Amino acid sequence: MQISPGKTKVGWIGTGIMGSAMAGHLVKAGYRMRVHNRTRAKAQPLLDAGAEWAEEPSACAEDADVVFTIVGFPADVEQVHLGAGGVIQSVRDGAIIVDMTTSAPTLARKLARAYAQKGAVALDAPVSGGDVGAREGRLAIMVGGDAEAFEAVRPMLELMGRNIAHMGPAGAGQHTKMCNQILIAGTMIGVCESLLYAAKAGLDAGAVIDIIGAGAAGCWSINNLGPRIVARDFAPGFIVEHFIKDMGIALAEAKAMGLSLPGLKLVERLYRDLADAGGGRDGTQALMKVLEKERD
Ligand code: NAP
Repeated sequence: MQISPGKTKVGWIGTGIMGSAMAGHLVKAGYRMRVHNRTRAKAQPLLDAGAEWAEEPSACAEDADVVFTIVGFPADVEQVHLGAGGVIQSVRDGAIIVDMTTSAPTLARKLARAYAQKGAVALDAPVSGGDVGAREGRLAIMVGGDAEAFEAVRPMLELMGRNIAHMGPAGAGQHTKMCNQILIAGTMIGVCESLLYAAKAGLDAGAVIDIIGAGAAGCWSINNLGPRIVARDFAPGFIVEHFIKDMGIALAEAKAMGLSLPGLKLVERLYRDLADAGGGRDGTQALMKVLEKERD
């Protein structure tokens, strides 16, 4: 398939924190887009920029060459693709479906099989880089599925991200994203405990971030979320409920592979404590609130 803004019709489902910014880059580049979201108001900026509203996912897919989805949980992915009014009901022969939600590898493989039966191709293409990366078009995008379809949609992915790789067959993108989330879980506990220690030791936490964030301990989480923690800004970014979902997927996949991940289990337990205390819609940096209460 030859992709170009003049020729290629796009369907887009999911206009939350990530999706609205990512779809915006395509509209800005001139792609014609039909957009759907559970809450219509969140699609309004895209509609104002020239996208057309679709009442349900199947209406997004009707005449689309490429359909992108970035919703919340695997159950949402299943619903917008395979449920009543789902994309699969009206997908065009030869269309490429790109699910960018962080979802289960098993579901990615199920979608790939279901769309293949309709003459379409489904790629799993989860992203990393947060709300900032989405806004700035600087996401990492890890793709599983048919290599030819990946090459076809690469020009569109390049409008959303800078670090883009084909990782293997269907599900390989989601597996790669699980590697990402396992690493983030470890760094989040390190970021919070490091800043807790800085506060107890009477250090200027901002100055600590500046110096250690530029050295061997430097990572996205300390440099982007560290300052938000210091400012007691717990607004999302990336919501706790989604992170718990990701850690649950990673733990289930690890178990199925006979792998034990004790570090991930600990962080998942701490985040569940945070959600139980009412922090499920906070940003993931709110892990600090749980660790502040821990006592030896
Ligand atoms: P979000 O703000 O909750 O956006 C998800 C959007 O999908 C919402 O607007 C939601 O509608 C819509 N949606 C959910 N189910 C739907 C359905 N059945 N039909 C139609 N629309 C539906 O979440 P996000 O932060 O953008 O994250 C989206 C995905 O990317 C998640 O899987 C997350 O784990 C992943 N991710 C997030 C980040 C991050 O930093 N935020 C980074 C990397 C990956 P409503 O507006 O009605 O809620």
